[in-house]
Amino acid sequence: MFKAIQISNDDDKYTAQYASLDQVDLAEGDVEIDVQYSTLNYKDALAITGKGKIIRDFPMIPGIDFVGAVTKSSDDKFKEGELVILNGFGVGERFPGGLSQKARVPAKYLIKLPAGITAKESMMLGTAGYTAMLCVQGLVQQGVKPEDGEILVTGANGGVGSVAIMLLSKLGYTVVASTGRPNESAFLTALGASQIIPRDTLSEPGKPMGKERWAGVIDSVGSHTLANACATTKYGGTVTACGLAQGMDFPATVAPFILRGIKLIGIDSVMRPLEDRYNAWQELAELIDSQKLASISSEIGLSKAVDAASDLLAGKIRGRVVVNVAN
Ligand code: NDP
Repeated sequence: MFKAIQISNDDDKYTAQYASLDQVDLAEGDVEIDVQYSTLNYKDALAITGKGKIIRDFPMIPGIDFVGAVTKSSDDKFKEGELVILNGFGVGERFPGGLSQKARVPAKYLIKLPAGITAKESMMLGTAGYTAMLCVQGLVQQGVKPEDGEILVTGANGGVGSVAIMLLSKLGYTVVASTGRPNESAFLTALGASQIIPRDTLSEPGKPMGKERWAGVIDSVGSHTLANACATTKYGGTVTACGLAQGMDFPATVAPFILRGIKLIGIDSVMRPLEDRYNAWQELAELIDSQKLASISSEIGLSKAVDAASDLLAGKIRGRVVVNVAN
């Protein structure tokens, strides 16, 4: 028997609870893992609370990412005792996920924990941190350089936003952080933001184009915020869009695209090919500052994950939540 969060939807009654499960509750797979840490991502919070249609099959163990030690493997690539990470690929949505003491998954979903970070640090970063890295790489691949000017990061106190600030500042970019929590300004400055702007300067309906300001944008918010970010991006600049914390809509015009040649790059972390994952995790391991990472992370036990999911959606949590599945 092992402990896990289990989501059920019986007779249209949606429940998430800390439960004792049996090995047979796990999916088919070539590799068995003793999970050490998982995390609470925005998507996990939507799944646990039922506020988003994330779970595709019931009952389900949520948790879109985890790190743990291999206990059994019929695939030569993974040996017993080796530490492995999994994020995305429908785990915690279509297949039992990481908010559990045990997992069984196909080997093709796993990557080895890169050298340079601990197991716990990998989940302090988690899907949000890895997505922040993909966004930063998206800007770099489009040729955005530190000398080109300011980079806007929206949803700055969230998981993606806070890691994006750390990474950009480490790479020498000037970061402007947009937040609805100005009381956290000192925290954002300590992570590397040069300036903090209030969320509502971007989140209300705006004009098709505004004064050019951003060389690049990392947006985890969507809706009017993304539209306004595009409208104020400098000629030839790049906007990476990965989230929808404000909304899934995109009430923009084509004006910034056809008159300023700006680029909008969509960032998906879930089905990203393995090679991109290795690169992103490797670069994260190289760039991350352990002390700063610890400052954006809090730890909870598995039994507290259900309550913490509501707090995360209510915007009460700053940065990242690591779930220690042993407790
Ligand atoms: P968090 O909940 O940690 O952070 C979201 C942040 O967005 C909040 O902290 C808040 O920042 C801001 N925010 C919340 N509500 C609103 C609102 N109504 N209007 C404007 N800003 C708001 O989530 P994550 O950082 O983990 O994820 C952010 C988004 O990215 C989510 O939509 C998530 O689904 C998506 N995502 C997508 C991935 C992909 O593969 N494309 C992978 C990972 C995440 P503040 O208080 O500073 O304003």
